[in-house]
Amino acid sequence: MVRPSDKTANNRTPRELNRSLVLDLVQEHGPISRTNLARMSGLTKPTVSAIIEELLESGSVRDVGTESRGGRPARLLEFNDDSAAFLGIEIGVEQTVVAVADARGRLRARLDHPSVQRDPQRTVRDIAELLPRVLQLSGIPRKRLRGACAIVPGLVERPSGVCVLAPNLGWERFPLRAELSRALRMQVPVYNMPQAAAVAEGQLGAARGHASYVWIYVGLGVGAGLVVDGRLFFGMQGYSGEIGHCRVADDGPPCGCGRRGCLETFTSVMALRRAAEAASARSHVLAALARPHDVGALAAAALAGDEGARGIFLDAGAQLARGIAVLLNVLNPQLVVLGGELLAASDILIAGVREALPRHTVRAGDVPVVASPLGSEAGLLGAVQLAREGSVRSLRLVPDSVLQDSAP
Ligand SMILES: [Zn+2]
Repeated sequence: MVRPSDKTANNRTPRELNRSLVLDLVQEHGPISRTNLARMSGLTKPTVSAIIEELLESGSVRDVGTESRGGRPARLLEFNDDSAAFLGIEIGVEQTVVAVADARGRLRARLDHPSVQRDPQRTVRDIAELLPRVLQLSGIPRKRLRGACAIVPGLVERPSGVCVLAPNLGWERFPLRAELSRALRMQVPVYNMPQAAAVAEGQLGAARGHASYVWIYVGLGVGAGLVVDGRLFFGMQGYSGEIGHCRVADDGPPCGCGRRGCLETFTSVMALRRAAEAASARSHVLAALARPHDVGALAAAALAGDEGARGIFLDAGAQLARGIAVLLNVLNPQLVVLGGELLAASDILIAGVREALPRHTVRAGDVPVVASPLGSEAGLLGAVQLAREGSVRSLRLVPDSVLQDSAP
């Protein structure tokens, strides 16, 4: 479990912290008795009982009868999955997803809709139209919605929620938070996709129990979500983690950001397509793959043993290692988690990373680099977790700076 930093603890009253602790325990270990909650939390029984009364009243927890094992019968409590619902919105380059999750953060329904380039107003209208349909699909009434969060593949200014730049969507300085909040008639905080994915990874995925880790998206672009000492790290305006635009070659290919030789021009879907085209003269398999080369087909060829396709993923991994090395040298994380389209051949990509890392860092050997078990849903699940943070207030990841932003 991620421990709150001192600052975080100071931002919440002890009562709030205890309440979060008890709620986390009920969620993880329920059905559970008050006695066991007291034992596991280290709180006194009267304190636990008072908190449970509050949680029963709010509906977050319910009484599910008695247990008697030898001694006196004890009332058992469990987390009420139906007590609240949360809205997660992912605006992707190709698809926009609107999803409804239960109080535990499990997806109950989702609707996918093709994204529209260069028209953020239209995207907001599409989302507003999808909302009642996805609620109907989930069977959850709108009045039970307790929070929402949207994510985008681009720079999000904090705390305004203005999407300053999303090159792959063709957006510039769009007030997404304000527009979505107005259209959906509720507060909709906005985050950058890898930041949200990092939150999901810490609560549900490979980074559970880790206080310092980085989550890196390697797909249409490259970007990182940074968790440092149990907190999401945003930087001054929220633009942290843009490792895709670290320059790795002075005379490299032009990048969407207007510069040349950025990391993402060497390790992204576009870079793989370019490499596959360049290599197709030398490989029958690559030549046989349809144009434009699709990453899934290329990954399948690599996994089937085609040396040309394998080499492309190994090279992409070796380039990615340069960006990862910067984060390892600066942040000294416990774990690196990778997600995104290039993970379709994760073992080969990661082998390329591992082979190259020692050339760029002083101590790389002991930091695990793993593929996200959450797959393509990492960002969306992160949006749901961030929507929940405003009301459920788990202690597992305590981004209090996030909470201040998402308070209505
Ligand atoms: Zn760039």
